Order: sequence, then structure tokens, then C-alpha cells
Amino acid sequence: MIYPSRLMISVVLVLTLLALSAASCSKGVADDDRLGVIVSILPQAEFLEKVGGDRVDVTVMVPYGADPHYYEPSPVQMMKLARSSMYVKVGSGIEFELFYLDQILAQNRDMIVVDCSRGITLLPADHDHAHEPQNNEQEEEHATDPHIWLSPVNARIMVQNIFEGLVHLDPEGRGYYEENRDAYLQELRELDEEIRAELANSQGSLFLSYHDFAGYFAEEYGLNFMAIEVEGKDLSPLWIQEIVQTARSMGVKVIFSPPQSGLERVSVIAREIGAGIVEFDPLARHYVENMRVFARELIKAS
Ligand SMILES: [Zn+2]
Repeated sequence: MIYPSRLMISVVLVLTLLALSAASCSKGVADDDRLGVIVSILPQAEFLEKVGGDRVDVTVMVPYGADPHYYEPSPVQMMKLARSSMYVKVGSGIEFELFYLDQILAQNRDMIVVDCSRGITLLPADHDHAHEPQNNEQEEEHATDPHIWLSPVNARIMVQNIFEGLVHLDPEGRGYYEENRDAYLQELRELDEEIRAELANSQGSLFLSYHDFAGYFAEEYGLNFMAIEVEGKDLSPLWIQEIVQTARSMGVKVIFSPPQSGLERVSVIAREIGAGIVEFDPLARHYVENMRVFARELIKAS
């Protein structure tokens, strides 16, 4: 794990930058009086802005196109941290937070920390929706599946947690936050109902993706989900063979793949199965539209 030590270099850099910059900013407030809030990933930024509106200035730690499983914060981001009032973590075991959160929080002890995953039951990281659960006697210690936001039901819980954090931080804004939250929760409820209705006839069907982003989604809507890439592990020929066989027998028509990730390997497997490839970005900022498109692609493929 070389990342944390590299972070220490960033920390030194930040301290230097901070010393150089004039101490003109009052602590905890963004340059323009909005509340400085830090989130880990882009969908959280969307949730935050939906609730916080123009009272918040949101900084995303893992920027567009970066991989939250490996990303390392930049010196500029570390500087933003020193001026922020709240850190909103995903809280579900996402690698970025496992590696860096302690050091990030050590940069600014005044930040309040909101855990988006509070109230969400986390799934184990290597659960496999394509198979019956095994009765493992030697209860292994599982890492958790970090992709909680990809179920709209969980997204609603995350939004509520964010709302509570904002009210705690800025009680004066309560009425404003409440109105925003209610509107967005309604939007998420409609999204959930829409997806549930659309997928009602696809219960039990299998879908395949390169990255293992869809465990919570599959669980919520009664689908089976299989990921080609098991996080952090190489693809063995045996595993690929198993995927191909299962996908053929279940008539899988598409494989979902995040942009710029493993496309070559996906296309090999897709050809093997005779399936198409559909791009899906689990980290897209425009959450509702992104999930709507995803559900539509699932229907098309089922
Ligand atoms: Zn992921």
C-alpha cells in the first residue's frame, strides 16, 4: 500500500501552500460565504447540491474519470479541506476512504463528518447474485460492497443523512434544506417506482457487467447480477469460462462496462457470448437520469 506514504508528501505540500496563502478566509466557510462541504464521489455531490442548493460549495475528492478504488487526493484538494466545515463520506468501505479518510480528517479536526451509509445494510463485497448462497461454515471476514448509491432506495437514505448533516451545521437553513430535500426525495421515489415497474417482468433474469457495481441494485429489484471483474483480483481462465457458460445458458444479451475500463477484456467475453457492450458510468453525477438510462438498457437487454 504505497498510497498513504505518497499522501504524506501531499500533506507537506499543502501545509506549505497554506502558509503561503494569506489567512484571509475565515475557517469553515468557502470564499463566498457558502458552506464548504467535501464529498468523496460525484453522485454525492449531486445529492448535496440538490439539498444544499446555493448555501453550499461542494468539492468532490474523486474527480470525474478517476477511480475511487485507487484515487489519491491532490494538494489543491487537501487545501480545500482545510477550509471546509463538513466531510460527507460514503461510509460503505470504498477504498478511497479506507486509505485516506483518517489522514484527510486529520487535516481539519473542525469538520463534522456525515456518514451517508448510516441506516443502510451493507452487502459483502464478494456476494454473487448468480448463485445460491453457500452455507459457509468457516464464516469468512468479508469486506463490504461499497456501491450503495446505485440503488435509488439507498440514495434516499443517503440524501436524508446529508440533510441531517446540513441542518446540524447550519440550523438557520433548515426550512430551505427541508424544501429541497422533499423535492429530491420525491424525484428519487418516482425513479424507484418507475424502475420497479419496468423491471417487474424481469425478476430473476441475469445481467452481466465488467465492474461489480450493481449488487445493491440487483438486490433491490430482484435481479441476478454477475461481475466479470472481482475487485482487485485477476481474471482466471476458469472464471472467464464460468462467466461465459452462465451467460450463454441465461441468454445474456449485453455486458455493462464503465467508460475506459477493461473494454478489451469485455469485448473478448462479449464476442464469446454473442452479447453487446453498453457503457454505464456508476459514478455519473446526474444520478436520476443515469439510473433511468441504466434501467432502460436493462429492459432492452432482457
Ligand atoms: Zn466500484
